[in-house]
Amino acid sequence: MSSKAPQAHEVTELGGTPEQEAYMRDIIDQFTVDTNYLNQIRDHFMAEMDKGLEKEGATLAMIPSFVEGRLTGKEEGHFLALDLGGTNLRVVLVTLEGQGKYKTVSSKSRVSEELKTGPMRNLCDYIAECVDTFLTEQGLEDQEVELNLGYTFSFPVLQSRINRGVLTTWTKGFACTGAVGKDPVLLLQDALLRKHVPVKVSALVNDTVGTLLSNAYNKPSTLAGLILGTGANGAYIEKFDKITKWKGSKASADEMIINMEFGAFDNERKILPLTRFDNKLDRESINPHAQLYEKMVSGMYLGEITRNVLTDMIDRELLLKRDENTSLAWSKEISRHWSFETAFMSNIEADNSTDYAHTKEILDTNLNLHDVTTTEARFIKKICELVGKRAARLAATSIAAIVKHCGIDADGCDIGIDGSLYEFYPSFEARMYEALTEMMPELTNIRKTIRLGLARDGSGVGAALTACVAARMEKIIA
Ligand code: ADP
Ligand code: MG
Repeated sequence: MSSKAPQAHEVTELGGTPEQEAYMRDIIDQFTVDTNYLNQIRDHFMAEMDKGLEKEGATLAMIPSFVEGRLTGKEEGHFLALDLGGTNLRVVLVTLEGQGKYKTVSSKSRVSEELKTGPMRNLCDYIAECVDTFLTEQGLEDQEVELNLGYTFSFPVLQSRINRGVLTTWTKGFACTGAVGKDPVLLLQDALLRKHVPVKVSALVNDTVGTLLSNAYNKPSTLAGLILGTGANGAYIEKFDKITKWKGSKASADEMIINMEFGAFDNERKILPLTRFDNKLDRESINPHAQLYEKMVSGMYLGEITRNVLTDMIDRELLLKRDENTSLAWSKEISRHWSFETAFMSNIEADNSTDYAHTKEILDTNLNLHDVTTTEARFIKKICELVGKRAARLAATSIAAIVKHCGIDADGCDIGIDGSLYEFYPSFEARMYEALTEMMPELTNIRKTIRLGLARDGSGVGAALTACVAARMEKIIA
């Protein structure tokens, strides 16, 4: 696989020594993914999607979400969302007003260490109490009909129905007894019943699926939802007859949302343009050989890849070379794993001043790198740009694969994206569009045909909408 050779001006305008120029030429070459290469990755992505739809255990897991059919934007009523899995427990009331409009009110409460590690019954009682208090505050405690609730339970669950599943293991510091091997929906429902809270837990929600639905409510042509935050994942709407591995019962609609789990794309290392810096990151991660695509694309990792390049340059005495007695003081911080945050890259890339004053300040305050020269700052910015641009282009291959796999008509499609990387990284979206244009030259106006947009709150609005779909499915099947 060849990547594009760096343009001569790309190197010379950095203004370094011949040794630095030679180094950068190689780095630019390694991090550049040209159009031809993008197309190859997209094609491999599509082949892997097919494998995942065909059988269990494929690299792209392509998990059926049990969420059937599409939203029209006309849905109305009160729906609840519950988000458990981070530091806080969040309850959200979403009032769908039709015409793609909605209102939300929410409350947050802390889950104590005692609750996180005590009996599951206590945790569920606490959650039920929080829901009860919230409903009272909202004047909804005496509802005649039960409210439907979408439960974003961010732990590994083997799902068997839209509101049935089994917790396989705890993660993220939770370790309640009497929960593994049980259905978190039933345990919560029991607690709600004990307290006479008029709420039905009608859907277990994955955040990617929630992101898709939260975008779809006011953009019914939504085809996919993506997460580009700490991690990377996507979900899209698939035709039932293409999910050949599906053994479930006949559905209420002819389409179902698929949670792709695409962070694991190409764990076999067949196509991704892995550099030695990516390999170093993978080897030193808590999950070597796993989530390789995610490690090149998502917020958790980009800063560390950049740091790996910077420290390599430092070790070769091509960057930040100082007198012996001063070097030790500043090199400690940059030598520490994960010390270079992806948000620093955002800030550095946003620095358009001629003397890189802002870049120098970021390096000084966060990494104790004092007296960075303008030339050094220019090199560092260039490296951020290479890593950030590659991430955006690789992220675009997943969208190109979904679009080509599904096919779109003249009206095009919407893609909802959640996550700080997409939201805050300068040019991330523009670079994705650029890559999409290269992969689909037949589309004359990419921004009008494949409409990317920020879709916040998949675990709130999205979860409530999942509950809404679940209630509809139940009606159709009943
Ligand atoms: P989560 O994915 O956990 O729901 P976010 O969507 O906020 O949370 O993503 C957090 C990730 O985004 C972190 O890995 C962080 O490195 C990255 N991030 C946070 N702020 C920025 C920023 N300004 N620019 C780029 N990346 C950022
Ligand atoms: Mg998030």
